[in-house]
Amino acid sequence: MPTRALRKVDTTVLRLASDRVTARALANPPADYVGTPAAKILTGIGRRQYLCCITRYLHRERTEDGALRVYMSNRRACHSRLCMECSAAHSKVLVEKTRRITAHAWAAEPSMRALFLTLTERSAVQGQLRPTLQAHAAAIKRLFAQQRIAAAINGSISSIEVAPRLDNGRSTFGVHSHHLLAVRSDYFSTAQYIRQAEFVARFQQARGLDYRPVVDVRTVQIAAAQCEADAAHGIAVELMKYVFKPSHFIHRDGHVHVDSAVVAELALALRNKRTHRLSGCFEVSRKALQRATPKQRAQPHEHAEQHPF
Ligand SMILES: [Zn+2]
Repeated sequence: MPTRALRKVDTTVLRLASDRVTARALANPPADYVGTPAAKILTGIGRRQYLCCITRYLHRERTEDGALRVYMSNRRACHSRLCMECSAAHSKVLVEKTRRITAHAWAAEPSMRALFLTLTERSAVQGQLRPTLQAHAAAIKRLFAQQRIAAAINGSISSIEVAPRLDNGRSTFGVHSHHLLAVRSDYFSTAQYIRQAEFVARFQQARGLDYRPVVDVRTVQIAAAQCEADAAHGIAVELMKYVFKPSHFIHRDGHVHVDSAVVAELALALRNKRTHRLSGCFEVSRKALQRATPKQRAQPHEHAEQHPF
């Protein structure tokens, strides 16, 4: 059985391999971009990510009980969405914040139930990712602002994700969003209950689609000895993991394959984009926790995301 420290070294090596190749692809954008302002942006992201790769330092130390602890530090973290190391660090911060937020929200209203909603639209083709993401985010906002939905739902934690795919040799991007919804305990037995078909119709209208989107809505499964808050937290953690799975570029044969056109599209579409959103009781909890905890200064040696929410 590999030890935890060894697994950490393995992950670090794999991430570094992927991040270097992605950085190189970003710094050398495809021919269509040459001479455009986008090329300058991509080169900048690529250079920062390359610097991030070469300034990583793996520390090892013995803990008091004799176990080996391995951890990473980097003074030049690039915070690029396509950087696996920085994405993992960002997600760690978000997961911890979300854990505190869901715990706070359920402590305030312990009888709340949790729903898990997924909204999926048709894949975007190359060149259409950024407008598709923007339209999807705007549709979510419109959907949750509808009176019927706003009245039925206490709060939501939303996350938009992109799944790059290859359809018949053509690159496409699957845009979908996951939502953790908190509802009152009597939601299922009152007129507030919203059926799956109604969610489909409402999202179709909010997004202005001429086809029926795929909508999945289910109650959050609660394992034995688990309470609703723990189950909801488990879902929230999944939501905070990533917007785009950076390990996408690592293949089973151990090679890292990167299509520079796909990388460029992802980097430009996700640049300065907020992909996680809180509303209702979760936003109230976030503000309450922010007021209760004094601002901590980022540790200079550790990865730190300044404004994860
Ligand atoms: Zn980085």
